[in-house]
Amino acid sequence: MNQDMKFDLHIHSHKSYDSVASVQNIIRNAKRQGLSGIAMTDHEVLASEDVVDLAKENNIWIIRGIEAKTDIGDIIGLFVSKEIKSRKADILIDEIHDQGGIAILAHPFKYMKRIDHYPTKLIEKMDAIEVVNARWEDLRLFPKNQMVHKLLSAVQGRSAGSDSHFPLEVGRAYWTTPPLSSPEELKESIRANKGEAISASFSKWLDGPSQFVKFLKKPTLKQIARMAYWSSRRVVVGKRTIPNE
Ligand SMILES: [Zn+2]
Repeated sequence: MNQDMKFDLHIHSHKSYDSVASVQNIIRNAKRQGLSGIAMTDHEVLASEDVVDLAKENNIWIIRGIEAKTDIGDIIGLFVSKEIKSRKADILIDEIHDQGGIAILAHPFKYMKRIDHYPTKLIEKMDAIEVVNARWEDLRLFPKNQMVHKLLSAVQGRSAGSDSHFPLEVGRAYWTTPPLSSPEELKESIRANKGEAISASFSKWLDGPSQFVKFLKKPTLKQIARMAYWSSRRVVVGKRTIPNE
């Protein structure tokens, strides 16, 4: 019997400045979670060929990707094979497309202050919106929120991923589709929204430990200030809520 396939489309390894996860452990947990494939989306760094080989040995699909910080927020490029240099969203999306890749707007709720200010022209250039990210809110929980509605109507494609920085997070969110026979078909299923974004488990507190890992790997003054700001905000502001209208 042909089973649906599951892909976690947003994963970080130790190559990211805020993760210590080894690729071996990521793949082991992906198999344990019954995933058919994973997308490596390290911050600013593309997965090397040996990671691709390791995934093949383990009989799991791997999609090479990158997550880049841009002037409008984080953008994920999937199905790319060369480094992407620009950090200006407009040019970066073109670079991704020139390689035959797809551009995905990552966790739009991470930057609440930005969600209403995404330039429409740039959003319309995207191939997909990450509607489910296991570290941030599930966009589909806010159907009446005008900002969410605007975003989701501007782009047809959908995507889902755990945004895991620790191996145990792998598979907490995924994209599921009927059986596919090639990465090209997976690309099409994301772009044309022919699958389903699944939120298996969700929690926001994991961003804290990642910030700490970033501090250990890059103990800069900026990071110390960011952690102090982040902790005091939690104490002063408390839990952030998103209006559902
Ligand atoms: Zn990420």
